[in-house]
Amino acid sequence: MSAPAKRKPRAAAPKFQRIALIGIGLIGSSIARALKKHRLAGEIAIATRRRGTLDMARKLKLGTSYHLKAAQAVKGADLVILCTPLGANEAIAREIGPHLKPGAIVSDVGSCKESVILDVGPHLPEGVHLVPAHPIAGTEHSGPEAGFATLFENHWCVLTPAEGTDAKAVKAVSGLWKKFGARVEIMDAQHHDRVLAITSHLPHLIAYTIVDTATDLERELQKEVVRFSAGGFRDFTRIAASDPTMWRDVFLSNRDAVLDILGRFTEDLTALQRAIRRGNGELLFDRFTRTRAIRREVIDAKQAGVEIWRDRR
Ligand code: NAP
Repeated sequence: MSAPAKRKPRAAAPKFQRIALIGIGLIGSSIARALKKHRLAGEIAIATRRRGTLDMARKLKLGTSYHLKAAQAVKGADLVILCTPLGANEAIAREIGPHLKPGAIVSDVGSCKESVILDVGPHLPEGVHLVPAHPIAGTEHSGPEAGFATLFENHWCVLTPAEGTDAKAVKAVSGLWKKFGARVEIMDAQHHDRVLAITSHLPHLIAYTIVDTATDLERELQKEVVRFSAGGFRDFTRIAASDPTMWRDVFLSNRDAVLDILGRFTEDLTALQRAIRRGNGELLFDRFTRTRAIRREVIDAKQAGVEIWRDRR
């Protein structure tokens, strides 16, 4: 008797029937790629405002349908993810609100979280769940070509649902990010914005300032700045090459937390300035020793992998 033919195991049904991605730049296109890689969506509806960007997304086969109107893309979607600059969120939420199906989840990827709740929340109808998210992963590149499926692997994704948000909706969004390989943390939105003000927003502001100061120097010196940039300046130029629209919106959205942290930073900088002027080597040595220990903690927490970005591109 011949052995019974082995049945091919049937692929599990995707977690979401239809996911709409509004905005298909670095983050949106990385999500699209990760969704496809892990087969997490039946349909991926992509919306972006410019035809050129939409054509590129189509060429890259990032979705199953392509739209210039966000309202069209969200029709029938069980999950909608806003992947646009923070300043665009309110208008998009107003546009899509009336077209969301009951029970749908709306999420985002914005770098500030309180503004998302304030801008998007009021436009969502009863029965639609808002689960804001921030994947702490990125590069200085923009646009649909810049994305890659592994961008979120081994990076944090912070969710900031308001108290009382439907637990199933939070679990669904959390599960999605875990499938992308991210580590998920749930946090209060205000707390997120304070933490990110120091870990991400201030460093970007400093990088923008240093590079801008260098460009203001006279021409001859500028040439030397580029020639000898490996001395530290190079790393700032990478950060300062980040998308201007995105970062303008980050600073406008997280104004209070950034101004607070900036005030403290300015005081500390002034203290170092005074120590240099007065020849207070003891204070300088003391500060630099303290910060060296922080670097060790960052390495121990496996957060020192800026190189990950480069390796995976
Ligand atoms: P991106 O590559 O520049 O892509 C932005 C997308 O949003 C594009 O599809 C663009 O469409 C669309 N868009 C831009 N302005 C718009 C507007 N006013 N109205 C409607 N659509 C608009 O940006 P990204 O780096 O993916 O960033 C997207 C979000 O992710 C931001 O909120 C950012 O805070 C967050 N984030 C970014 C990073 C990072 O490292 N980049 C990391 C974590 C989170 P068109 O091309 O059609 O104009």
